Amino acid sequence: MSQSVNSAHVHGTTGTFVAPAYSPYDRQILREHVETLASHVSTLTLGLHGTRWIITQRVPADGLCATCTQFLGRLSCRRGDDATATCIECAMHSGGHNT
Ligand SMILES: [Zn+2]
Repeated sequence: MSQSVNSAHVHGTTGTFVAPAYSPYDRQILREHVETLASHVSTLTLGLHGTRWIITQRVPADGLCATCTQFLGRLSCRRGDDATATCIECAMHSGGHNT
């Protein structure tokens, strides 16, 4: 079990921070960090559970999450090599089935 599995790496124009992403509380804090950062820059990169997510604020009005089919809300998350948009909630929980 690698130590990095339960850490999130967020890259933005202001630098990089590493945060734990182990518990639901950790993820809630992480999500708030991401939402705050995303309000200042147009694009963020989030590394979580070995997946690289591109997070942008430019969400189409009718954009739906490919995973849970809810409206995306403020943030759109895409895997680095995939055009499919996912909401921040699903991005946070992807690959995290280790509880
Ligand atoms: Zn979703």
